[in-house]
Amino acid sequence: MNRIVVAEDEAAIRELLVHHLGREGFACVEAADGPTALRAARTSADLMILDVGLPVLDGFDVLRTLRREGRELPVLLLTARADEIDRVVGLEIGADDYVTKPFSPREIVARVRAIARRAGMAPQSAPTLLVFDRLEIDEAAREVRVDGSDVGLKPREFALLLELASNAGIALSRSTLLQRVWGFDFEGDERTVDVHVRRLRLKIEEAAKLPPLLQTVHGFGYKFARS
Ligand code: CA
Repeated sequence: MNRIVVAEDEAAIRELLVHHLGREGFACVEAADGPTALRAARTSADLMILDVGLPVLDGFDVLRTLRREGRELPVLLLTARADEIDRVVGLEIGADDYVTKPFSPREIVARVRAIARRAGMAPQSAPTLLVFDRLEIDEAAREVRVDGSDVGLKPREFALLLELASNAGIALSRSTLLQRVWGFDFEGDERTVDVHVRRLRLKIEEAAKLPPLLQTVHGFGYKFARS
C-alpha cells in the first residue's frame, strides 16, 4: 500500500483528492497546514501532494525543509495560479511535478501514478497485467514476455510500452508521452520518444516476429494497436 500525504487547507479540494486517490488504492493522510504536512511527510509517507498556499508554513517552506533534511519522497505541487515563478521555484527546491488549479481529479491521479512509476514505488492493489496474444506486459513483475520469456526491457522502455499499451487504440502525442514517462522537467526533446519506440520495435516486434503493435501517428505521436 502506498501512502500519500494530501496537504491542502481547502477541505473540499482535500476531500476530493482523498476520494479519488482512495479509489485507486492509495492510502491518504490529510494535512490542512504546513507543520502537519511536514510531520506527516516525515513518517512513513511515500509521496506528497503539496499545496503552495498552506497556512503557518507554506508549501515551499515545507518542501525546502524536507529536502534539507535529505528526505527524497516525491512531491507534486499544487498552486492556485499559473505562475511561472511558482513553477520555477518549485522545481529549484525539488518538486517532482506541478499542477495548477483548477485541475481535474483524474489529472492528479494520472500524475501521481506517473510519479509513483518513475520513483519505482510498488504498484497499487491491482497491478496491470496486459495480454495481447503472445505478448504479456506484467507490471507487478516488471516484465514483458513474448511466448512466456522475458524480453529484457530497460525501465524507461518498459514504462513507455506500459503507457502505450494501457491506452491501446488511443493516439498519444510525443509531448504527452514525454511528460507521462520521463516527467515534465525532462530536458531532452521529443526525438527521445522516437528512439525508445524504435528500440521497443526491435526488441519486441522484430525479434519476436510479432505483427506491428506500436503504430506511428504521423505528425503527432504513437498508438498501441488495439487487438
Ligand atoms: Ca491553499
